[in-house]
Amino acid sequence: MIRVGVFGAGGRMGTAVCQAVSEADDCELAAAVDPYHGGERVAGTDAVIAGDAATMLDVGVDVSVDFTVLAAARENLRWCAAHDVHAVVGTTGFTTDDLDEYAELFAHSPANGVIAANFAIGAVLMMRFAEQAAPWFETAEIIELHHDQKVDAPSGTAMTTARRMAAASSEWAADPTTTVVAEGARGGLAEGAIRVHSVRMRGMIASQEVILGTTGQSLSIRHDTFDRSSFMPGVLLGIRRVGTQPGLTIGLDALLDS
Ligand code: NAD
Repeated sequence: MIRVGVFGAGGRMGTAVCQAVSEADDCELAAAVDPYHGGERVAGTDAVIAGDAATMLDVGVDVSVDFTVLAAARENLRWCAAHDVHAVVGTTGFTTDDLDEYAELFAHSPANGVIAANFAIGAVLMMRFAEQAAPWFETAEIIELHHDQKVDAPSGTAMTTARRMAAASSEWAADPTTTVVAEGARGGLAEGAIRVHSVRMRGMIASQEVILGTTGQSLSIRHDTFDRSSFMPGVLLGIRRVGTQPGLTIGLDALLDS
C-alpha cells in the first residue's frame, strides 16, 4: 500500500487527487495538506485537511502529490527532497533554473521527483505521435481549443508539441500565403515555423488537434479533455512509478515506457 500525502488538498485538482487516491486499491490517503483550508473535510473522502506539511512526517507518507501554486510548490519540492518523501508535482510554471535546482536536490536525496506539466496520458501520447509523424509530412498546423477563462495563448502543450515536431524534422514546406485579409488568420508561428491556432470557447475545457499533410493524404491527431478526471490515471501512474525512477523525472513520457 502506497501512503500518499496531497499538497493543495483544498483546491480543484487537490480534491480530485484525494478522491482518486482514496479509490485506488493500492494507495492510501494518509495526509491532506492545505494551509488555506485547514480543518475542512475533503469532499468525497474521510480526510480532514491539515495546515502544515509536518503532518506528512507525523503520519508517515511515501509519496506526496502537489497541485498548489508555484511559490508553494517550490518550497514543497525542497521540503520533500530534504525529508526523503517522493514528490509527484503537477503545479505549472517552473523555470529551467528551478528544474536544474530540483535535479540536483533529488540526485542527492533518497527520494525521487516527477514533475509533469500535463498528466493527461492521452495528451502525452498525442505529442509523442505528432513527433513520430513529423518526418513523414511536409506541412503541419496545430489547433488548440480551451475554455474562455484561459489568459495565455498558445497553450504550453501546443508550444511543446511544436517544439518536439520541429526537433523531429526540419523539412517543412514554405507557407504559400502572400495576402492576409484578416490579421492573424494564419495563426501564430511556433518552432519550425509550425502554425498554432488558439480557440477560446465557452463550454470547452481543453482540446488539441495536430493536422499533418503530405501528397494525397492528411493525418489528424486529436485529444479532448472533458473534466479533471482525465488527469487522474496519469497522477496515479506517477504515484506508482516515482519510487523506481531515480532522481528527477520531467514529464510523463518516461513513465509510460518504464
Ligand atoms: P486551485 O487554486 O484550485 O488549488 C490550489 C490549492 O493550493 C489551493 O487550495 C491553495 O489553498 C493551495 N495551496 C496554496 N499554498 C499551499 C501550500 N503552501 N501548501 C499546500 N497547499 C497550498 O488550483 P488548481 O486548479 O487545483 O491547479 C493547481 C495547479 O495545478 C496549477 O498550477 C495548475 O496550472 C496545475 N494543473 C496542472 C495539471 C497537470 O496536468 N499538470 C492539470 C491541471 C492543473
